[in-house]
Amino acid sequence: MSAIELHSLTKRFGELTAVDDLSLEVKEGELLCLLGPSGCGKSTTMRMIGGLERPTEGKVSINGEEVTRTPAYERDSSIVFQNWALFPHKTVLENVEFGLKMDGVSDAERTERAREMLEMVQLSDYEDSSPNELSGGQQQRVALARSLIVEPHVLMLDEPLSNLDKRLKEEMQLELKEIHDDLDQTMVYVTHDQNEAFTLADRIGVMNDGQIVQVGEPPEVYNNPKTQFVEEFLGDTN
Ligand code: ADP
Ligand code: MG
Repeated sequence: MSAIELHSLTKRFGELTAVDDLSLEVKEGELLCLLGPSGCGKSTTMRMIGGLERPTEGKVSINGEEVTRTPAYERDSSIVFQNWALFPHKTVLENVEFGLKMDGVSDAERTERAREMLEMVQLSDYEDSSPNELSGGQQQRVALARSLIVEPHVLMLDEPLSNLDKRLKEEMQLELKEIHDDLDQTMVYVTHDQNEAFTLADRIGVMNDGQIVQVGEPPEVYNNPKTQFVEEFLGDTN
């Protein structure tokens, strides 16, 4: 069974077609990168998978179950955004615990699991800190812990590292890959940065104009670009 299946997904905003008849399968435990230039429809695709945007046409399934009309909070998915949006007046631990608030978990268990998550993202020493005492990279790790605590079937990350400097970005990429490997976590990772996609991805879906123009393992995509767009986009080292 696939973790995610998208069938002919289309999203129009008035006259604009942001996502255009897009079909895609994400396998269990795989890290799939959606790679493409700004405005090509990556975030809209992700938001439809997560239930934050309703498709104009087409179907979304997660874990074999059609969820096209299921609200976000009932889907087995979780999203980490570029702007990590932590609660400024809660501690780091409380921010991570918050992920479980809706789940009917006891206070003690919630705290225990939040501490495990903080250990995983190497922030155990900061549980009583306020988010604004942390660096950007540390804040993003808190956001990651908050998303992972619910053990989502599918974790989606929308340009999560694009606000970080180069060194931190590389460090976080390694950490994310480790977490992905350790948990066998299915991830959809959106980026416009081809280096990032080639570093992280098990498979890459290259997007242009609301469509996936090529899907494949990184070397395959790199060595055999299917269209001129892919060739030029990959050749364009930014
Ligand atoms: P990406 O994440 O690849 O940069 P987006 O999915 O954010 O692209 O956007 C795809 C297109 O849809 C863009 O032209 C964008 O301006 C448009 N768009 C996205 N969200 C909305 C919205 N809520 N209303 C109108 N247009 C939107
Ligand atoms: Mg985007």
